[in-house]
Amino acid sequence: MTIGFGFIGASDIAKNKMLAAIRNTPDCEVVSVYSSNFERGRAYAAETHIPHAASSLEDLLANPAVNAVYISTTNELHHPQTLAAAQAGKHVLCEKPLAMSLTEAQAMQAACQAAGVVFATNHHLRNAQAHHKMRELIAAGAIGKPIAARVFHAVYLREALQGWRLDKPEAGGGVVMDIVVHDVDTLRFVLQANPTEVVSLSQHFGMSAGTVEDGSMAVFRFDNDVIAQVHTAFTVPYAGNGFEVHGTEGSLIAKNVMHPAAQPEVLLRTARGDQFLELEANEVYSVGVERFVAAIQGQGTPAASGEDGIWSLAGALACLESARTGQKVAIKL
Ligand code: NDP
Repeated sequence: MTIGFGFIGASDIAKNKMLAAIRNTPDCEVVSVYSSNFERGRAYAAETHIPHAASSLEDLLANPAVNAVYISTTNELHHPQTLAAAQAGKHVLCEKPLAMSLTEAQAMQAACQAAGVVFATNHHLRNAQAHHKMRELIAAGAIGKPIAARVFHAVYLREALQGWRLDKPEAGGGVVMDIVVHDVDTLRFVLQANPTEVVSLSQHFGMSAGTVEDGSMAVFRFDNDVIAQVHTAFTVPYAGNGFEVHGTEGSLIAKNVMHPAAQPEVLLRTARGDQFLELEANEVYSVGVERFVAAIQGQGTPAASGEDGIWSLAGALACLESARTGQKVAIKL
């Protein structure tokens, strides 16, 4: 059975990452795109060779060739658009952060469950082979009992993306909703643990406007006693990125694993010495699409479920609340 995707949102990520990921997945195609601006949607469809531009969300959802939607609008729209898609019986692959509040995200999951459609979150980083190997090694006891983790994920926001992320809190702008969600998800995946509390500070270094933060440092506690430090920013051009987990018997020290285009490197350091893991390049967005499509076909679960997206949102919202109040904030669903 061919899975026809409808794009909700004529976005940068849909054009530059997801279109190829879907087209590279067997028996999948993108059949329609909906933009709130029909002319822009039509131009987008022509440029990307998507056969149809929908005149409204209803038009896209009424299309029988659309079995699944990929939602990549600004963050405040994910909730109503997911509810509409579920009601129309379409499977939903939704961008992170899932919504603006936990209540909304939970309603999205409930609506998909009630409609019997697959609901997945597009957390791509957990699909990287580096993170899979780190997760496996930790589970196998290669570094003993994990004690602490550090995530370095400060970037310079490329000019093309310097829009709503910087000045629209009502659209879910800010580095915490944009990047911390990925870090919480990757930590959960690698540690196989859930965050329980967070303290954080946010920064306004001149790129963002008003109350929207462009930098954040946070420390999360997980339910396996690990504490994890997370640095994110839109303002830092040369930091590189990394992910470390330190345990009683060893450390995993990874570089270039928080951006899919970078050349990843993972070092296992123990009493036996240093060992670089062998890693094969893998297309993280394609893995996400393949797992989503397999789940639609009744084979397994999505790479990141709706519940995973709810957890990462809970971590990000708690991080924002801690920065706002100066208090440690509990994380619970
Ligand atoms: P974009 O700014 O490219 O698109 C977001 C919305 O903005 C679109 O839905 C579109 O509205 C509107 N828009 C886009 N370009 C224009 C334009 N030139 N003129 C007017 N309106 C425009 O956002 P991103 O692609 O960066 O992000 C979209 C979503 O994807 C967000 O939720 C973000 O968090 C997520 N994301 C996820 C990533 C991942 O790796 N998982 C990476 C990057 C983003 P319309 O709906 O009307 O077409």
